Amino acid sequence: MSIIDKLAEERRARLAAERLLKQKQEELLAANRKLGKHALALSEEIVEKRHEVQEVRSVAELLKGEKKQALNQLKEAEFKVEIAERRLWDSIETIQDGFAVFDADDRLIAANSAYLSAFDGLEEVRPGVTYARITQLMIEEGIVDTGELPPENWREEMIERWYSDPIDPKVIKLWNGAYIKLIDRRSKEGDVVSLALNITDTIRYEARLKEAREKAEAGNRAKSAFLANMSHEIRTPMNGIVGMAEILKETELDDDQRLYVDTIRNSGEALLVIINDVLDYSKIEADKLVLRPEPFDLERCIHDITTLLRPSTQNKPVDILIDFDMFMPTRYLGDPGRVRQIMTNLIGNAVKFTNEGHVLIRVCGLEVGESRERRIHITVEDTGIGIPEDKVEHIFGEFNQVEDDRNRRFDGTGLGLAITKQLVQLMGGEIWVESILGEGSCFGFHITLPVVTDENNIPTKPLERIRRALIIDPEKAGQSVISGQLAVFGLEVNCLSSGETALATDLGQYDVIFADQSPPDMDVSELIHALKQAGETPVVLLASDQNADASGADIVMKKPTLPRELYRNLQELEERRAPVFGLSPDMSMRDADEFRFTDSGPDGTTPEKRRMRVLAAEDNRTNRLVFSKMVKDLEIELRFAENGREAVAEYRNFEPDMIFMDISMPEMDGKEATRSIREIERENGRHVPIVALTAHAMSGDGENIMAAGLDQYLTKPLRKAAIIDTIRELQPDDVRSVIPEHTAATISGNHETTAAE
Ligand code: ADP
Repeated sequence: MSIIDKLAEERRARLAAERLLKQKQEELLAANRKLGKHALALSEEIVEKRHEVQEVRSVAELLKGEKKQALNQLKEAEFKVEIAERRLWDSIETIQDGFAVFDADDRLIAANSAYLSAFDGLEEVRPGVTYARITQLMIEEGIVDTGELPPENWREEMIERWYSDPIDPKVIKLWNGAYIKLIDRRSKEGDVVSLALNITDTIRYEARLKEAREKAEAGNRAKSAFLANMSHEIRTPMNGIVGMAEILKETELDDDQRLYVDTIRNSGEALLVIINDVLDYSKIEADKLVLRPEPFDLERCIHDITTLLRPSTQNKPVDILIDFDMFMPTRYLGDPGRVRQIMTNLIGNAVKFTNEGHVLIRVCGLEVGESRERRIHITVEDTGIGIPEDKVEHIFGEFNQVEDDRNRRFDGTGLGLAITKQLVQLMGGEIWVESILGEGSCFGFHITLPVVTDENNIPTKPLERIRRALIIDPEKAGQSVISGQLAVFGLEVNCLSSGETALATDLGQYDVIFADQSPPDMDVSELIHALKQAGETPVVLLASDQNADASGADIVMKKPTLPRELYRNLQELEERRAPVFGLSPDMSMRDADEFRFTDSGPDGTTPEKRRMRVLAAEDNRTNRLVFSKMVKDLEIELRFAENGREAVAEYRNFEPDMIFMDISMPEMDGKEATRSIREIERENGRHVPIVALTAHAMSGDGENIMAAGLDQYLTKPLRKAAIIDTIRELQPDDVRSVIPEHTAATISGNHETTAAE
């Protein structure tokens, strides 16, 4: 190899070595840089870590402080818990009742000494004992008195109860007669807290209370029975007094004697009202008053009451009017006796406290939803003395009579409205009153009753010949009631207040004239006479009292008018207008009347009919005398029976058309006698009407009597009008009229019967 080549080779080697050196230097530099960076990062990290260490150290310091504090607090809390627990147990210890806690495995955790004392120092009953073992010990050691129940069964019951949820309270009796009420509660975790209350005193107190209540109830029953008996005992002689006074009044008496007789009678009646009020009130007080619903006719009931009360308005110009919504059903399911009592009290008060004007009874009703019930609103409005404002509020309280000069002359017990309110409330209704002193009062109440039938008073057949009516009545209220009724029957009505104005109009345009019995400007008979003179239009007299002079009138209607009755009379007038068989056209209305009412046989002679046979069973001699005097003017054959047995015998022998049956009689009472008669009738197919005569005023008697097979009942003392009305009502078609011809002209008597509807 040449030097050149060697030099060249050396140069190349040197160059290569230089390149390598350079490369290594660069690498070293890069490594140095990296190292530097790394060292920097490391030192930063060290700084950071140092910070962190410092922070942790200070947190640790803090925690150390907090831990110390927490430990202190814990110690404090533990101390407090200890105190609270001690206090709790101290308290639990001090209470007389037992307290225990069981764990979820039914093991006793703790119990107070009252709880443990029941076990009388039994070692075994201490924390750890199970509930099952406790019950076992209770029967084994005779701690519990299981009464009739075998001890094992008692224990089973107790264990079954323990696992029920919730656990019902249970009263157990201990051997020493103490009563313990166990109240146990299981928590969500399964622990049971058990409370054992000593209720021995309460149980003894309740027993004493029960005994006292039973005694009081027995006393109350005795009182009720005593009142019922007293009622009977007083009513029976009262029947003699009031009845005899009524009969005595019909004999020749001078004015003084008449006054004495009236006083006897009125005092007797007043006494009876008081007896009834006191009886009812004591019954309500004793919660003994129950309602006895049965179907009844509300309109008829109100009408009967007004008929009964009408004699009280005899000497004063007071009209009693009824405005019964004609589109409303009349038959309802309710307690007719009690509805009658409410109405009698309200209407009776209105009549009592009204010296002139009117007493207007309005009845309307609302349907209650879809049901067949009606909410019936009844108001009794009067134009009487009114009630002072400060007294109105208390008027429904007991013995609350408005004491002032104006009403001191009225008697009463002051119990009527209190009883009425209670009765309305018993029927689920409300009662209220509005009154203006000196102008009048309006008592209202509502009750809801089921409707029995939807039929109402509106007759279906329209009137053809009676289209226009004139009413002559000085009272606006009277005008509006009757014109309302006539309007429903399709009549066109005109109202006038006086006779003079009526006579001044063209009367020929009317088909009927209704005249009130007291026109302001003339005597009523004078008015009727003048009306009849003026034309052919028939005149209907609207009479408020029995003494109304009815002469000349075509028809006499008692006020208040019943729509049905009004319609019947209009129909009768319509028939009279139609051509009558066998009558010449010129025959007067009066002749036609006579023609229609004569009982003629086919040959024109009147056949002799037999008299109605009436049997009266009554053990009291005075009452028999009273009864016979009351019916002495009637065309009847009367026979008496002195007890139930005789009544049954007379039923067979005498074959009566009706029987009055006293209820309390010796040997066989009226109910038993009636049952026997009904038994006989099952074979002979007859049904003789039997009317009970009862002195019992207690509610429920009516129903009781009806259940024995009687048809109606009259309460004593007997009233002549009621007896006569009942006989007339029950008179069969084939007997002579019970009212002799010469007395027939009087307006019909009172309805006082409580008929089975
Ligand atoms: P009484 O049996 O005394 O009538 P009530 O309880 O029926 O008892 O009535 C209490 C009192 O309320 C009556 O005494 C009377 O002062 C007053 N009163 C009741 N109704 C009326 C009325 N329609 N007009 C004026 N005062 C009345």
